[in-house]
Amino acid sequence: MNKVADTFIINYQGNNILYDSLLNISSISDENLSQLENEQYDNILKKNGFLHTLEDNKKSIENDYLPNSATIIPTLGCNFSCTYCFSTPSRKEQYLEIEKATAAIDYIVDNSIKKNKRTKLVIHGGGEPLTATDLVVEISKYFRSVCKEKNVKGSVLLCTNGFASEKNLDLIKDTIDIVQISCDGPEQSHDSQRVTVNGQKTYKTVLGTIDYFENNKIPYIIRTTVTQNNLHSLNQWVESLKERELLRILHLEPFLENSTSKSNGLSKVKSNDFFDIYVSIDKTLLDSNIKLTYSGCSERLIKTEFCNISNHFILTPEGIVTSCLESIDSNCDNSDIFILGSIDAENKIDINKEKQSFLTQRKSLNIEACSKCIAKFKCAGDCSKNCAGRTGDIMTIGESYRCDINRSISVYNILKSCGLLNGECSYVKIQSAIIKTATNIGSNEKKLAFINNNNENPDCKSCSHENDTGCEAFGEEEE
Ligand code: SF4
Ligand code: SF4
Repeated sequence: MNKVADTFIINYQGNNILYDSLLNISSISDENLSQLENEQYDNILKKNGFLHTLEDNKKSIENDYLPNSATIIPTLGCNFSCTYCFSTPSRKEQYLEIEKATAAIDYIVDNSIKKNKRTKLVIHGGGEPLTATDLVVEISKYFRSVCKEKNVKGSVLLCTNGFASEKNLDLIKDTIDIVQISCDGPEQSHDSQRVTVNGQKTYKTVLGTIDYFENNKIPYIIRTTVTQNNLHSLNQWVESLKERELLRILHLEPFLENSTSKSNGLSKVKSNDFFDIYVSIDKTLLDSNIKLTYSGCSERLIKTEFCNISNHFILTPEGIVTSCLESIDSNCDNSDIFILGSIDAENKIDINKEKQSFLTQRKSLNIEACSKCIAKFKCAGDCSKNCAGRTGDIMTIGESYRCDINRSISVYNILKSCGLLNGECSYVKIQSAIIKTATNIGSNEKKLAFINNNNENPDCKSCSHENDTGCEAFGEEEE
C-alpha cells in the first residue's frame, strides 16, 4: 500500500486549518500545526483522515488519447462587436461542413463507449453559433440521434451571445440540454461592452432570450465578463437574478487582454478587485440555488488539467482540430503549439500524436510552480495559451495576476467550508493566510492516479443531467 497526501496549513484570525488538496477537505485543528515535528504532523493527518492508502494503479494514468467530448464551432461569423473579443482577428463568414461535424461526433461517442463514460458536446462561438441556427440544429440533432442509437448518455451545451429571434430559439430549444448566455451586468454596463456590429444596443434582446429559456424550462448559465467598467454594477444586478429558477450557474471571468481590448482602451481588472467582486457576489448568492464559478478556481471539483485536453478537443469551421478556443487558425499567437491536426478531405480525424502528448503532460503536478501551490487542483495550471504568451513556455508559469486571484479564491473557499468567514474577508489577509506548504507524501504519479479514481461529484445539481464530473467545466466555456 502507498500513502499519498498533499496538505497545507492555513492560519486565519488565530485559527489553524489543515487542508488536503487531494480530497478538497479541511479541518480546524486545536494543535499549533506549524510547530509540530514531521512525525507528529503525520499522526495529525492520520487522525483527520488526510493520509490515504492507494494501490498502485498505473492503468488509470496511461496516456491513451480517447477524447469523449468536443467543442464544435459552426461559424466564425458574428453579429456582435464586443469590446474585448478574442476572436475578432479570425472573423470570417465560414461554416463548418456537416460531414466534418458528424465525423467528430462519431469519434467522441465511440470513445465514450470505449471508456464507459458519458459524452458531451459544446456548440460554441468564435463567432456566434445562432447566426447559423440551421447548422446548430443539424449538429445537435445528429449528436442526440447517435447517442440514442448507441445507447450512450450525452448532453449538449450551447454557448450563445443571446441575440436571437424567437423563431430561432424555437428551432433549437428541443435539441439542447443546457445553454450558456453571455450577459455583462445591468443594461448600461452590458450595452457599454456588448453591442452589435452596427453599434446597436443588445441588452433587451439578451434579457428576452434569458426569459425565453426560463419560461421554456431549459436550464441555463449566465457568463459575465468582468471589466473595470462593469465591476461595480454587478452585485446589485446579481441580487435581481436570484429569483430565477432555471439559472444554474453564474460564471464570472475577468476579460483577457488582446488586440481588441487594447484598441478599446481596456486595462486589466486588478486581482484584488476581481477577488472582492467574486466574494461579494458569492455572499449575495448564499441563500439561492445559483452556483458561482470562475475558471481559475473550481469550488467543488478537483482537476489536474485546466482545459481537459486529455478528454476534449475543439473543431473549427475550417476543419482544424485544436486544443484552444483562442488558437483556431494560424493567425492566432502560438497557434503551432495548440493546433493538434485536422479533419481531412475524407473526413478522417488526423491528430499529431507528438503535440497531443506534449500538451497532455501539462498537468499541475508536472509544472514546478504549480506542484507546490495550494490551488493546484482548483486552477490546474490555469490557461496554457496565456502562459505561452507570457513566458514562451506552457510549463513555465512566470508572473501571472490570475495566480493571485486563483490562490485567494481557493483559500476563501476553504475558510468558507470551515465556517470562518462571518465577518470581513480581506484580500490581503487571505493572501497571507497560508503559513506552511506542508506534507507532500507520495509521488506525483500516485497522486494523479488517486485523482483519476476519486473525482466523482455526487452533489452536482447544476442541470438535469446525472452526476457528471465535467459538468462544471460547462460553466467555464468562453463566449
Ligand atoms: S465575444 Fe463572442 S459575441 Fe462578442 S464579438 Fe466575440 S464572438 Fe461575438
Ligand atoms: S501556481 Fe498559479 S497557475 Fe499554478 S496552480 Fe497555482 S495559481 Fe494556478
